[in-house]
Amino acid sequence: MTFTPVKTPLIAKKLFPNYIWDVSTNKKIIYLTFDDGPTPEITDWTLEVLNQYNAKATFFCIGNNVKNHPEIFQNIIRQGHAVGNHTHNHLKGWQNLVEVYLDNIKKAEETIHHEISNSSIPNYEVPVVNLFRPPYGQITLSQGKKLMELGYHIVMWDVLSYDWNKDLKLENSFKNLISKITKGSIVVFHDSIKASKNLQYLLPKVLDHFSEKGYVFKPLTI
Ligand SMILES: [Zn+2]
Repeated sequence: MTFTPVKTPLIAKKLFPNYIWDVSTNKKIIYLTFDDGPTPEITDWTLEVLNQYNAKATFFCIGNNVKNHPEIFQNIIRQGHAVGNHTHNHLKGWQNLVEVYLDNIKKAEETIHHEISNSSIPNYEVPVVNLFRPPYGQITLSQGKKLMELGYHIVMWDVLSYDWNKDLKLENSFKNLISKITKGSIVVFHDSIKASKNLQYLLPKVLDHFSEKGYVFKPLTI
């Protein structure tokens, strides 16, 4: 089976209008997101490449990875990127009871806040952590409802890079990706070991392609 970058169909967006799929704008803005970090070397590499293009992004962090790599997490926030919650242990929503799922998110939240308060960034730059992305895109209606009651915005995506797939055909994927990304797109990458080879190919090319066309890359702030 060949995977190519996929754009979320309109029907999914319409079925779940309370979730964020993209940002409505007529400006040349792209919202890159990176899931599953912080990961040694890969996240720092990602930050460096983003920096070269003056690009800001959003990192949906796994709480346990934040706990294990606090210095990398601090690099993310110090460089002005947004951070979101991606559960503490990368749980699948459909396979976990609401309480278990929410407890795990809470645990990630506490870890993230702990590391933010440990950082030396000035108060006015402290990021608001009110974004949540469900691992595997799996979340039940009741889990989603509870999270929104707690003040979270649930962020899905407009374009999926499939960067974690080891069979990805790189050149085709890049072409496909740039044909799907548009103004206000939320694009999913992974700063994970699994995705690193594909990410290292795709990310600089995407940044290059859209920078040339006058696009800017911004963090999600809601
Ligand atoms: Zn994930």
